[in-house]
Amino acid sequence: MKKLIIANWKMNPPTLKKAKELFSATTNYRLQAKNAEIVIVPPFIYLSELLKIKNSPKQSTLATGQIKLKIGAQNIFWATEGAYTGEISPKMLKDLYVDYAIIGHSERRKYAAETDEMINKKVIAALKESLKVILCVGEPLEIRKKGKKAAMDFVKNQLQKDLKGLKGKLLSNKLIIAYEPIWAIGTGISATPETALETIKYIKKLLITNYQLLTPRVLYGGSVDSKNIKGFLQHNEIDGALVGGASLNAKEFKKIVELTNKIN
Ligand code: PEP
Repeated sequence: MKKLIIANWKMNPPTLKKAKELFSATTNYRLQAKNAEIVIVPPFIYLSELLKIKNSPKQSTLATGQIKLKIGAQNIFWATEGAYTGEISPKMLKDLYVDYAIIGHSERRKYAAETDEMINKKVIAALKESLKVILCVGEPLEIRKKGKKAAMDFVKNQLQKDLKGLKGKLLSNKLIIAYEPIWAIGTGISATPETALETIKYIKKLLITNYQLLTPRVLYGGSVDSKNIKGFLQHNEIDGALVGGASLNAKEFKKIVELTNKIN
């Protein structure tokens, strides 16, 4: 299966002009290989303009090579429409031809006080609209310090709540899990490939036994860059990476994509 590389721009860059420049620099080159799929996830406000660039016939993007290029959203709301000031629905995103939605990112759990119950409603709403879900789970440092069992229990508990009522066909081909230990996000201290691998294997086992997924896709996220990407992705079980900070530097992101492409 192709490795999935997701660029989470978070609340960057600060202007539309800069967002267009970053998008073009990130995607405007041809890469003739088949081992990667790219998803760019900009702030909501830039989605329409970037989709126009992506779909313009002139743009010689990754999409014109053999690499797939898709666009995602950083969040969604669970209702389709109505009196929910400031929110964006999965239907609105589908209407723009957005394919993916990140749900439950730890920054939203922290700064927007998103609970597992809210995240569960969002996952259900996204799947109803056939948006592909990138569900983020991962333990904080105080839990990791207690050892690997505590970290795995934490993640299991998040999955249990976030995926409540969902399994099998409802999820297959639409659910991607990003294992993102909170202590590794934006800190420059990534998990070791071994820690990522053992947690991802555990998550896959849960997805197969408890959620009847045949071929679960699980990514690693947390201070990924061009220096450490190979260490993670050389393992078959790690299906890709969620890249934050490093995706804001087009050259660095291009290196990550190229290195991913070379992995068999
Ligand atoms: C993220 O945004 O999910 C992330 C992993 O960020 P960073 O790569 O900057 O750690």
